[in-house]
Parts: sequence; structure tokens; C-alpha cells
Amino acid sequence: MPHDLSHLDAALATYPRVALLEGPTPIQKLQRLSRLPELNGCNIYVKRDDLTGLGGGGNKLRKLEFLLGEALAAGADTLVTWGGFQSNHARLTAAVAAQQGLACELILTPSAVRSDDDFCHNGNVVLDALFGASIHRLPRGVAPDTFAAERVDRLKQQGRKPFVMPLGGSSPRGSLGYAACAGEILRQADTLGIRFEQITVPNGSAGTHSGLLAGVTLAQAPTTILGYSVLATEEQASALTVEKTGQVLQLLSPSTALAEASIKVDGSQRGEAYGAPTEAMLEAVRLLASQEGLLTDPVYGGKAFAGLLAAVRRGDFPAGSNLLFVMTGGLPGIFAYRSAFDG
Ligand SMILES: *Cc1c(COP(=O)(O)O)cnc(C)c1O
Repeated sequence: MPHDLSHLDAALATYPRVALLEGPTPIQKLQRLSRLPELNGCNIYVKRDDLTGLGGGGNKLRKLEFLLGEALAAGADTLVTWGGFQSNHARLTAAVAAQQGLACELILTPSAVRSDDDFCHNGNVVLDALFGASIHRLPRGVAPDTFAAERVDRLKQQGRKPFVMPLGGSSPRGSLGYAACAGEILRQADTLGIRFEQITVPNGSAGTHSGLLAGVTLAQAPTTILGYSVLATEEQASALTVEKTGQVLQLLSPSTALAEASIKVDGSQRGEAYGAPTEAMLEAVRLLASQEGLLTDPVYGGKAFAGLLAAVRRGDFPAGSNLLFVMTGGLPGIFAYRSAFDG
């Protein structure tokens, strides 16, 4: 029986959305990795959300479809957002602004754990400037949301119409992009004739995880969504994911309750801090690259894939399980982390 997605589709259609993807991103099986004896006969698939076409691609474009819909409906002429120097969300907001002919202001904050030249000046920040964004680099200790509020006041005084996006684009509206992605995955699973036991994602600002979970909940699909937290601790990320998933469901179907037991966050891969490299991350990025020719980033995808590898090697899944890993993009981050990959 194919999934019934009518409820989800109808609910999503009530929100303004600007198409930024060319169509569904591919789902591919990792042929070589899935044959490694240590992976215990599991079938590992990837959802190629790194292949979204604009601005170097990545998961933020799905959120930006709904955020841009919201911004244009509000008459915005300037997009404002913030993040770290290597924020993929900031980069893709700048790309979308360029494509739409909007102004863009990015407020970028330094990292607590990386301050080398590549981190500060390579990777995403190179691209932000190419897309024509105005960049405000904050010194340590200045709160980006406070700075953003001041910038917004100033822009309004100048007669502009700024629209502010939260960290990672993970407002409830932005997270609808991943509820839509859940529908897309379930349709592809129907076409492939398989059921995914688990969908694995990195969990940063939790919009990707929350959107997917709200989507599969509404479609009544029994797929587990597991998020590896890379930013907050397991406990904090779990609480945030409960809250966000509830908010997304509220937008889509207020009568649908969230079973709290369906929130699965694993904090084992975060390491000492957000953005701090771990041995397991380095091994996971190298394995995917050397065995499959695929690129994951050191901050999100590398850590989440390391978690999936550890679980599969441990024997958490019976042979024949179909496991889907969402590749969320972030390729520019590899260049920012050159020193971590040296040697
Ligand atoms: C932002 C980001 C994530 C995490 O998504 P959230 O919705 O913030 O949890 C994962 N991977 C990449 C490459 C990202 O840029």
C-alpha cells in the first residue's frame, strides 16, 4: 500500500512557498559501503539534499522555500540572518537573495573552537561575499540577535523592509520544508518498493529533524527519525526537537498529537563542542569520500554519519534493514577545516 500523503500535501499547500529546488533530490544506495562485512548486511541509502541546485546546495534551501514565501508575502526587500562564519544557512540565504534581487545582511559570529585562517576566511565566507551580501563580523561576546534587532531598526528608518530569519532557518515555517521532504521521501520509497526502518539526520537547530518527524507523523509512516545532535547536548537538543516538532505539527494539523517517544536524539557524536572535529567524524568523512565519492561536511553530516556507522557496526539493525541517511550539504566547510583533514 502506498503512503497516503493527501493530508500532508493539503496542509503544506496552505503556506506560501517559492520553488528553489528543481524537483525531488535522488535517493541512492551506497553500493560499496553496504557490502562491507562490518556493516552487517544493512542497506544504506542516501537522500542527496546536497544536490539542491542553488548557491552550492544544502538542506537550508528547503527551509528557504517557505521562509522566502513568508518574506515576499510580507513585502520584504532585505533578508537578514545570522550564524557562525561557516554558516551554510547564511550562505544559502545570500544566494537566494541574489537570485530574487533582494538585499541581504549577514551577521556572522566567531567560533569558540576554531580561529585559524581557513576557518575565518575560506569556505562559506568566500561565497557569502560573491553572492553580494553585506557582512557584519561580530567580535566575540556580542549577541547576534541583539545586533540583528538594531540593524533591522536602522534599515526600517531608511525605508527598507527587512525580514529576519532565525538561526538555521528553523522557525516553524522554515521547518515545513522538511515536512515536505518527508512526503518526498515516502513517495520515493513507494516507487522503490522499500520501507526505511530509520532516517538519520544531523540535528543542529533541529528544523530538519522536526520537519521530517512532523511529516512522517502526519503521513502515519512508522519510520524512526534519528537525529545526532552536533550543537546542543543530547538533553537540550531533545527538548528543542520536542518543542519544534510540536510547533510544526501545530501549523500542519493542530489535532495531531506528537508521541514524545518518537523523539530520538543521540548526543554521542557531538564531541567537545559544536564544530570541534572528532576522530569518528574524520573517519566517516574519509570513508564516504574514498568508498563512494561522496562529500559530507565536518560539522554536521560527518558527525551524523559517524553515528550511523557506529550503530550499524554495533549490530543495532538486523541484516537487510533499509537505512536512509540524509546528506544535508555543507561542502564548503571542508575547505574551512583543511587543517583538521591534514595528515
Ligand atoms: C544546518 C545544517 C544541518 C542541520 O540542520 P538543522 O535543521 O539546523 O538541524 C545539517 N547539515 C548541514 C550541512 C547544515 O548546514
